Amino acid sequence: MGSRLDTKSDIQIKRKTSGANMSGEVLTGQCLCGAITCTATGDPVSTVNCHCSDCRRATGAVFSTVLYFQKERVQIIGVYSGFDHASDRGTNVSRMFCPTCGSQMFARASGWPDLIGIRAGCIKQTERIIPQRNVFVCSKIESTALDPVLPRIDGMP
Ligand SMILES: [Zn+2]
Ligand SMILES: [Zn+2]
Repeated sequence: MGSRLDTKSDIQIKRKTSGANMSGEVLTGQCLCGAITCTATGDPVSTVNCHCSDCRRATGAVFSTVLYFQKERVQIIGVYSGFDHASDRGTNVSRMFCPTCGSQMFARASGWPDLIGIRAGCIKQTERIIPQRNVFVCSKIESTALDPVLPRIDGMP
């Protein structure tokens, strides 16, 4: 949203209004102990609440919110550990976590080689965590309420 009234005061006003046009904004994240940090530039390609049983076991939470970015937009600082496994679709999923504190931080899937997912829980700018859809709804636990506005998908789109 370019504007010819792009004065300093105009920019400050834009920064106070969150959500609408955050392109170019840098998002930061870290694990619990701080040994691993990350930055991501611009808006995520997709933000999902994943209700699959694999995310449930890996994260210890009843569902997992993940922000997917083009991988070249994400920078990771620190040495993470990884665990690879096959998803129920037969694709390979890599889950990356801090070897010191165990925080789950990133995920990649062979079906989407250009994307990397950042776990929402490690992101500092919580106002930018805006889920767009619920995936693997077929696996969700009964007590998890779903936002009726969001699309529900029985798998990964
Ligand atoms: Zn850590
Ligand atoms: Zn999942």
